[in-house]
Amino acid sequence: MKPYKWDRETDVVVLGFGGAGVAAAVTAHDLGAEVLILEKAPEGHHGGNTRIAAQGYLNTSDADQAATYLEALCGPYKVPDEMIRTWAQEMCLNNDWVRELGGDPQEHQHQPEGIEYPELPGATCVHKFHDGPTYGYSFTWQRFESFVTERDIPVLYETPGRELIQDGETREILGVRAEKDGKSVLIKARRGVVLTCGGFENNQEMIRNYLPGVSHCYPSGTPYNEGDGIAMALSVGADLWHMNNFAGPSMALKVPEYPATFSIQALHFAKEYPGGMIIVGPDGRRFYDEKFKHRHGKVPINGVWSPMHVPTPMFMVFDQDMMSAAPLYNKNPNRGWTPIISQYDWSDDNSAELEKGWIKKGETIEELARIIGLDPAALAATVARWNTQVAAGEDADFGRKLMLSPLAKGPFYAMELSPSMINTQGGPRRNEEAKILRPDGRPIPRLYSAGELGSIFSYRYQGTGNIGECLAFGRIAGRNVAAETPLS
Ligand SMILES: Cc1cc2nc3c(=O)[nH]c(=O)nc-3n(C[C@H](O)[C@H](O)[C@H](O)COP(=O)(O)OP(=O)(O)OC[C@H]3O[C@@H](n4cnc5c(N)ncnc54)[C@H](O)[C@@H]3O)c2cc1C
Repeated sequence: MKPYKWDRETDVVVLGFGGAGVAAAVTAHDLGAEVLILEKAPEGHHGGNTRIAAQGYLNTSDADQAATYLEALCGPYKVPDEMIRTWAQEMCLNNDWVRELGGDPQEHQHQPEGIEYPELPGATCVHKFHDGPTYGYSFTWQRFESFVTERDIPVLYETPGRELIQDGETREILGVRAEKDGKSVLIKARRGVVLTCGGFENNQEMIRNYLPGVSHCYPSGTPYNEGDGIAMALSVGADLWHMNNFAGPSMALKVPEYPATFSIQALHFAKEYPGGMIIVGPDGRRFYDEKFKHRHGKVPINGVWSPMHVPTPMFMVFDQDMMSAAPLYNKNPNRGWTPIISQYDWSDDNSAELEKGWIKKGETIEELARIIGLDPAALAATVARWNTQVAAGEDADFGRKLMLSPLAKGPFYAMELSPSMINTQGGPRRNEEAKILRPDGRPIPRLYSAGELGSIFSYRYQGTGNIGECLAFGRIAGRNVAAETPLS
């Protein structure tokens, strides 16, 4: 083995302090391993998507049903049987684990969309939990975080992993090159490394290369997930999987001043909202039922669940009634990076956002079209058609049932909408032992992963499945890395 001048050594290095990192680090620690967590974000911005998620995690009630359901969710995008079986068994143990560590699992009371694909076999295994009496507001994350902080598990903030150090002959992972204040830090991992550094939600080049149907897309969650784990794993010979699967797109406001998207009230499916509103694409025409209840960005097209069509630039066009009804931004802060971390204070009458240019205004539809760069005649025709259909009581084009109000009262407004997503599911391929695999199916020795970085979800997604998977595969990675024979 080539001699390295290590700056620090430990048994296990975990890259990323989110849900999967917690489960892996705590499990390895409790089995007697010395563990160090490296986190890219500064303290307070750590926790990844887990911190700002809706805070639900999946605990399945029956392993056989869970296996049936996951297999059905994956559909034609098959996942190996051993992975399905392992996932199904371990997902039933999430509550036990949280409880054993002092947590307080509570089943969601109001979950109208609890089972995301109730029509699939095995779906009744789904049970969504959070920690403590209140749902949202980072509470589940705070419990997970406490599992780390109450143990002797050091966390180095603002210390991103940059490179895995691999033995040239054995291909074993020996440690990590991280970066602190612009300087390299070499950390030896005597037992192994666990990659839990999230997906590529904030890496536009990877988004262009890997995600179907979007030329760009922005995170509603952490901006620190930039695909680093994918780059590091590729460099040591890992295979990738599920790179084209993501929980999106939805449509939201993205402005340069803030790193994550703003969710817009009127776009919440199944809710009425005052005023007239349509969404148009670059040709000035509507392209779908604006209030359709997609399933984490997927819609049925010819019997196949596909990412929603998002022709950019898209504009939400609305009237004075909507403008003066309430803040357009959903100020409910129980999830999302913008409300929980950025805490942007949207003005009650939307005037500050009009002033900033986030909302554009025109006295007529034609004037508005000119301001936002659309063909005035096309937009005017679309609005006229919408108003005629609303008067007749039927959206003959897309069958929209909610908010059937005309764009009647000027002035008129527009807000550019961007594709937004919750997370990506792709990353290095892992096996049932949470080991990262090479394209020939052999594990890269001493390299593990968990969480959304190479998630098991290959096609359809069950809400709360991601954090559930963080816990399940985090524990598996933690157990197996702790059992490795230490390097001398
Ligand atoms: C608004 C929203 C709501 C959601 N709601 C739910 C929900 O209720 N239930 C559910 O199951 N899922 C939900 N999800 C998805 C879920 O939050 C994530 O998939 C899951 O939390 C991912 O956990 P993780 O540990 O894999 O990654 P993360 O929690 O994202 O953690 C990754 C960590 O790695 C760090 N990192 C990145 N690069 C490096 C590097 N080079 N070195 C070191 N550290 C690095 C990041 O800063 C981050 O702290 C939601 C997501 C969003 C955005």
